[in-house]
Amino acid sequence: MRQRIGIYGGTFDPIHNGHFKVAQAIVKAFAMDLLLFVPAYAPPHKRRVEISSPFHRLAMLVLATARSRKMFVSSIELEAPSRPYTIDTLGQLQAHYENALLFFVMGTDSFKDVTSWRDYTQILSEFNCIVAVRPGSDGDKDYEDIAEHLGLDLRARIVDLRGKKSLPKGTLKSPRIYLTDFVEVDVSATDVREKAARGEPIDEMVPKDVARYIVKYRLYQ
Ligand code: ATP
Repeated sequence: MRQRIGIYGGTFDPIHNGHFKVAQAIVKAFAMDLLLFVPAYAPPHKRRVEISSPFHRLAMLVLATARSRKMFVSSIELEAPSRPYTIDTLGQLQAHYENALLFFVMGTDSFKDVTSWRDYTQILSEFNCIVAVRPGSDGDKDYEDIAEHLGLDLRARIVDLRGKKSLPKGTLKSPRIYLTDFVEVDVSATDVREKAARGEPIDEMVPKDVARYIVKYRLYQ
């Protein structure tokens, strides 16, 4: 069987329980062999004025995944000579893991922006994508609404797995866009940074070692 690899890209400033629990659930439901967190140097589609150093963001990802057998961190975007686009990163990872099936993971908020990404039709038609529903506004919406910005051909690739815990048989034949709600965790990195800045506890929002790291290095103060 072809190796299955999840690619979870993002700023991860910091990684939080939303990312982590979604990743765990996806590894299980899709029987992934590996899941790679890929921190972005500074994603072209999302720039805040101050993003923590890539070293801090990478360190927190390493701490969060240290005990997991299947979750790893890739520094591929941090080491790129110039800031790569998602399509470039996916192409490089596919060249590296030649025979693997890659699954690009994103939340519903990113999915709604996807048409502003470079070569998004190529991303969505050449790679499997897994869209994780974030709690709040759109969780219950029909996927037609969630995907209203896509053309009919891409919409036809959507497999709605909401309410299901695993994949129906035979769905992995060609690249699909899987809409999932295996877990819904109402946390954002913005919430974590704001709480940390106020000196409030963040233990419920991020993995334990990440919470310690944020306090120790006085991030977001
Ligand atoms: P910020 O609050 O700084 O915007 P964020 O919490 O959205 O950050 P990112 O690192 O920007 O975190 O997100 C990386 C990817 O993870 C994106 O595709 C995003 O949609 C997804 N994601 C973030 N939080 C969740 C969550 N709670 N549930 C599901 N997906 C999530």
